[in-house]
Amino acid sequence: MAPAPEPALGWMNEGTELFLKALESLDDESLAARGSLPGWTGSHVVAHVAANAEALGNLVRWARTGEATPMYSSPEQRGADIEVGAQRPVAELRLWVASSAARLADSLDALTPDQWAREVLTAQGRAVPATEIPWMRSREVMVHAVDLGGAVTFADLPASFDAALLDDITAKRSAGADGPHLRLAPTDDDRSWVVTGAGDTVTVRGSLAQLTAYLSGRPATGLHADGAALPSLPRWL
Ligand code: ZN
Repeated sequence: MAPAPEPALGWMNEGTELFLKALESLDDESLAARGSLPGWTGSHVVAHVAANAEALGNLVRWARTGEATPMYSSPEQRGADIEVGAQRPVAELRLWVASSAARLADSLDALTPDQWAREVLTAQGRAVPATEIPWMRSREVMVHAVDLGGAVTFADLPASFDAALLDDITAKRSAGADGPHLRLAPTDDDRSWVVTGAGDTVTVRGSLAQLTAYLSGRPATGLHADGAALPSLPRWL
């Protein structure tokens, strides 16, 4: 049997609450304006998070039925759906993102242990047990809650989630090894993370929350690199 989906189910639900809180803190005009992600308005972020819930819902269906139902029909389709979705009236987007999140949570709740263990394919083509779905969703709702630029910042995300996200991005960046060699040393946590890359190791210090912002390619503040300028990072996802 695949490992239990906890604690990611908890992060998924907490992340959904944070996303909706950030969304509620923004008026329709701010959502229509350019945001912190290149080429995207807040409406694009909301449309993407709503469409992601439905795409992950396809994987839940796959786990339940055994019939292959991919997240998206193609990367182009994924992009086109976000563009079309972002043009919907903001009031509709608010309802869509909340209702799609609730449907995803309900469909996950109904999975049996055997169905949780069933393998599905991520949008990147990786075979994973369905127990990965809540983690995949947690990353989306937590990080995009901050991307909205409203009432939620990295400091509001649970430290346990930050640590898990650092594990995940460290593995991904180390596998690509296309960036600088880094050691992340949080000033408020005993753990540290080493990202394999090029050149001498640069140790970066700061809060766990801001190190998470940095490694995920988001604007970060209060970080200090020992004996060097803070290295800039290639894209993460
Ligand atoms: Zn995303």
